[in-house]
Amino acid sequence: MSKHLTWTNCEHAVVVIIGIHLCSKVWTTSPRKLWKQVFTATVDLLASAVPAVGGTLEAEKTKALDDIERDMLGDGDPDANVVIPSEGLSPSEIVAMSEKLKHSHSGFASGKKWGGIYHEAGSEATKLQAEVWGMFNSTNTLYPGVFPAIRKFEAELIQMVCSMVGEGTCGLLASGGTESILLAALAYRETGRRRNITNPNIICCETAHPAIFKACKYFGIELIKAPYDSSNFQLTPKIVSRYVNRNTVAVYASAPTFPHGVLDDVEGLGKFCQSKGIGLHVDNCLGGFLLSYLKKQGLLHGRKFDFNEVPGVTTMSVDLHKYGGTNKGCSVCVFKTEELRNSTYMPSFDGCEGLYVTPTLQGSRSGATIAAAWSSILYKGEKGYLAMAKTHHNIMTRAKEVVEKIDGLELLVDPEGCILPIIPSKNSTLSIYLVASQMEKKGWNLFTGQSPAVLGLCVGDVHQKMLGEWERDLKDAVDHVKANPNEKATGNAAVYGAASTIPDTLLDSILRQYVNISLRVKPTE
Ligand SMILES: *Cc1c(COP(=O)(O)O)cnc(C)c1O
Repeated sequence: MSKHLTWTNCEHAVVVIIGIHLCSKVWTTSPRKLWKQVFTATVDLLASAVPAVGGTLEAEKTKALDDIERDMLGDGDPDANVVIPSEGLSPSEIVAMSEKLKHSHSGFASGKKWGGIYHEAGSEATKLQAEVWGMFNSTNTLYPGVFPAIRKFEAELIQMVCSMVGEGTCGLLASGGTESILLAALAYRETGRRRNITNPNIICCETAHPAIFKACKYFGIELIKAPYDSSNFQLTPKIVSRYVNRNTVAVYASAPTFPHGVLDDVEGLGKFCQSKGIGLHVDNCLGGFLLSYLKKQGLLHGRKFDFNEVPGVTTMSVDLHKYGGTNKGCSVCVFKTEELRNSTYMPSFDGCEGLYVTPTLQGSRSGATIAAAWSSILYKGEKGYLAMAKTHHNIMTRAKEVVEKIDGLELLVDPEGCILPIIPSKNSTLSIYLVASQMEKKGWNLFTGQSPAVLGLCVGDVHQKMLGEWERDLKDAVDHVKANPNEKATGNAAVYGAASTIPDTLLDSILRQYVNISLRVKPTE
């Protein structure tokens, strides 16, 4: 077939394909994977048939990247610092500059842009964090003898989290959920090595957070992605049993999953993993404090997920900087046994520096983050967390009612905890990405997910007072899309929709460039 392709019709074909895929219609009507395979195969074929087609794709990519750059960096920054200023500025000058720049965060201050901050900004708790942060700014965890208070804060933070999710467990304080997951994956790889497994694999669900993908890439572990149970979007032992083999070192479950708010079948997986003698990690990064305190009030429908209730759980990532309400930079990786935790340590004793060991991936760390987080937990107390969980439960209940009332929308699943996964209702042809575009235009940044296409709300303190406005805007957005079904998606929703149909190799390259753009200093010309 490729012999008959000339450069012109070939280029035309690719442009048409890209054109089709960049327009909003395709995503709602086609099974993404199939489309993607067909598309990738076609592009590969065309690109190998005529080298110039590669050039066309390059041109499309450049255009996409130019759009991203314009969006993020505009025409450039008149105050860009490209080199270290020859003379230092005065503190008052710097504070004035910072005040000015802070205005660019006004979308967040409005309460409509969530930004991954789960607690109310500007509250008594955050003022306390800032004060304690300042007190311990110039400290270093590398020197517990010099800064014994920081050692105490870190040990107590870990201990308090362990006591919440499992008796007799131990943990490590990490910089975030991602680092906690890296540590768990490392522990399983090392455990596997001791059993002579040289090609270890971890089984996760398609719904798993990308952090496990990153962990496996970093540590040379094969990641096997299993599908979810299509009836409830959970990872179940029945599904995992189809993928497990003698190189499997662990299974990775989520409580809950980020895109859908679904608790995988941790109880069933726990039994399965125990019977096979393999580890079970529970990604409780998002659920963290929320699930534990929902459970204590009987608000988790009897679902089980922690070390106490599911003996097969061997590690768990618990973020403090989400529903724990602390400043960013804090998560705990909890281990069932000391042996598992020990296997993550990399002591060094033959270098010129002498004996060296640190608890995590990091070396020196500031004690300020730790002290501020410690202060947040003491401030909240059990009662505070119970109240937080109840409040979030009430917000979720109200938000579910809002979605159920709107003609054209429904929930993908009845979620546990904190994520509301919204989809078009079965008999509706509404594009959820178009609804997302409208919400974005109204100043909201909700998240979107792919396969299946969902519009998600992750609830936080702020939604207590914003829910009324959210309901009105969501209704208006749906009405607008119903009246204008052929409009094109804009903003992030458009990128997301298009991304689901672009070949992986192209996406890979665009995502790498995206990071480079975000790290670019662009002075005005
Ligand atoms: C946030 C999150 C993570 C990763 O945590 P970071 O703190 O962003 O590194 C992992 N899994 C789930 C389900 C999450 O929500």
